Amino acid sequence: MQPATEQPYLYIFAKGEMADRTRLFAWEDTPVGPISSWPPSLLITVNQILDSSFPMFIWWGDDFIQFYNDAYLEILGDDNDSKHPKALGQKGEECWQEIWGLIYPLLGQVLITAQPLYLEDQLIPIYRKGILDQVYWTFSYNIIRNNSGEAGGILVICSETTKKMVFQQEIVNQLTDSNLRFESLINEATVGKEEEQRKNDFINMVSHELKTPITSLSAYLQLLEIKAKKKDDTFISIAVEKAIIQVKKMTALINGFLNISRLESGKIQIDREKFDMAVLLQEIEDEFTATISSHIIKVTTPCENMVYADREKISQVINNFITNAIKYSPAGTAVEVSCVMVDDMFQVSVKDEGTGISDNEKDKVFERFYRAATAVSGLVSGFGIGLYLCAEIIQRHQGQIWVENNLPGKGSVFYFRLPAYT
Ligand code: ADP
Repeated sequence: MQPATEQPYLYIFAKGEMADRTRLFAWEDTPVGPISSWPPSLLITVNQILDSSFPMFIWWGDDFIQFYNDAYLEILGDDNDSKHPKALGQKGEECWQEIWGLIYPLLGQVLITAQPLYLEDQLIPIYRKGILDQVYWTFSYNIIRNNSGEAGGILVICSETTKKMVFQQEIVNQLTDSNLRFESLINEATVGKEEEQRKNDFINMVSHELKTPITSLSAYLQLLEIKAKKKDDTFISIAVEKAIIQVKKMTALINGFLNISRLESGKIQIDREKFDMAVLLQEIEDEFTATISSHIIKVTTPCENMVYADREKISQVINNFITNAIKYSPAGTAVEVSCVMVDDMFQVSVKDEGTGISDNEKDKVFERFYRAATAVSGLVSGFGIGLYLCAEIIQRHQGQIWVENNLPGKGSVFYFRLPAYT
């Protein structure tokens, strides 16, 4: 005969705090009865949970008397305010008052149907650490059969998923947050559009107002030029000539702004006609060589010349390319304009030997008001609207526009392609 204290070792073999407590517990004072009277299924399951490192729990009998393992201790809360060790041998309803209403029907369902239950990430708040803690669980309930093969109790295998759920919630919050921020940006942008419209109206109005005095200023200057030439006054002639050049620049700028506001209010129309590209390029070359002496302008034209497009606007695009080539390259260098057929498309290119455009600005220069760093630092005047207008015109012709970079300091080549309608 073994001493009474050693007897439970015949039944409970596991090691650890809960194994010790289970061995020493006065089970005879509970409806489960002394360990020696337990049905083998309960004994085996209790031994198994006490050996396991995964949180496990048992409710046994009509009163749902409780057993649990060491891994379950953390779930029960810290030392000060823990349900442990009171929970061992306690009735389920007493231990889990705060959630009994929630779990009792689940237990009942498992006991009656003998079907296991598995639930993921369920919010089941429990009292621990002195508060009703919002705890998420993934758990399974399985019946443990008694000697007569009926459901005698329930084995609970569970893990707390609160951390994962809090993390997920944070991500959802962040997404919601960024969504809200995105929406508010869109709202701002929508309001900003309204502002854009007002700005366009303003630019349009100012440009129109400026156009009238500039037109008469230009007319007076031309009269003065004629008179100065008649009087053979060289100083006045040269001064007036310079004033005329400046007025032309101003007119071009104002026209640029007017074009933008026309474009953005949808007032720019593409009026197609059949014309000879070689003739247009010849005209443009003549115009530039007559007025520009700082650069060498060379034009190469194709043999197949007829194109169906808006002649005036295409002329504007080529003019803009050449004006830029002159603006952004040193005096004395060449500007090569050429036109070739590529895959049934007319391809016009303007090549210069100027500053070039950095790779990351190659697309941006076609945006409205965008000016590349080299232009700004080189103190070349401009508003960044010319290429934007060019891009709009070419796109409205179902064409393509782009710039290719030569090596830094070797200049750039601006291209556009137009479908050749024959
Ligand atoms: P603007 O010349 O009035 O600034 P554009 O829309 O014609 O406006 O050109 C936009 C920008 O593209 C210019 O500010 C300049 O930085 C760059 N750019 C255009 N053409 C050239 C070129 N041939 N070489 C270098 N940079 C150019």
